[in-house]
Amino acid sequence: MTDCIFERISECLVKCRVCDTELKYACGKDETRLRRNCRSRGIGDTIKRLAVATGVDALVKKVAGPCGCKERQEKLNELFPY
Ligand SMILES: [Zn+2]
Repeated sequence: MTDCIFERISECLVKCRVCDTELKYACGKDETRLRRNCRSRGIGDTIKRLAVATGVDALVKKVAGPCGCKERQEKLNELFPY
């Protein structure tokens, strides 16, 4: 099992950058210590996870703007579901 990669989207709420799961947590707690199993739906999620983990994801967005990653991720999940 792999852990979700959370980013804080508002006070007391984080969202996984891979599977889009939102998770509320106790305000004031360290959100980097939250753990949740990330559910990969297909190969697109695995690629996305790699991109996020290596920082490629952020780099592409910075350089190229919205990259259509989401669409590609969904498409790959459909083509190669787990
Ligand atoms: Zn996740």
